[in-house]
Amino acid sequence: MKYVVLFDVDGTLMEESPTHTMAFDYVCDEFFHVKTDIKSFPRQGMTDQGILFGILQNSGIDYDTIKSRINELLIELGDYTIKNMIEDDYVLLPYVEETLEEMEKNNFILGLITGNFSKIALERVSKAGIGNYFSFGGYGEDSAIRSELVQKAIERSKLNPNLNNVFVIGDTPKDIKSGKDVGTKTVGVATGVYGIKQLQDADFSIKNLKQYKKLIEFIKK
Ligand SMILES: [Mg+2]
Repeated sequence: MKYVVLFDVDGTLMEESPTHTMAFDYVCDEFFHVKTDIKSFPRQGMTDQGILFGILQNSGIDYDTIKSRINELLIELGDYTIKNMIEDDYVLLPYVEETLEEMEKNNFILGLITGNFSKIALERVSKAGIGNYFSFGGYGEDSAIRSELVQKAIERSKLNPNLNNVFVIGDTPKDIKSGKDVGTKTVGVATGVYGIKQLQDADFSIKNLKQYKKLIEFIKK
């Protein structure tokens, strides 16, 4: 039996990247000369595209104008983040390495589902030393809608898996919803801003990855 496990990045594998976060305000100012405030925007679980549309529309820029420049915005967001990257941008959460190692031993097939622009996500996981665990993913430029990232990642796995054997693991209700919308199994990990209670729609939830053995048992059941 092949199990496909799709990991969210921020709040699940890693702490949020401060440079990536600040890059949103930078690109909005560069492109549209508006002062946005990413820190006060509830961005957890959102895609980079979704965040850009949200903060720019809040600043009075209309949808079509944003849409016409969204690719340029994402590229600049990526270039700025990578150029200014510091160690704080790729801090692994506790027990991530143990979890991934154990999953690899179990021959799980691992992918990423992240709202990060791919260039940013891949640079961060690679710098954190876990890049080799992941061979495919769904990323921020694929869509503003998270469930479409899940679909894209499953397509890219080229495995055509039974969705009962696909697991979306994330730290926000949006991650859980994205998996449910596609029909995968879902796992909540309460290491982001949400507690276990707020992740109760998931098929399984854990406080943190220290409980990775339980998680692996759940997947193999
Ligand atoms: Mg997250």
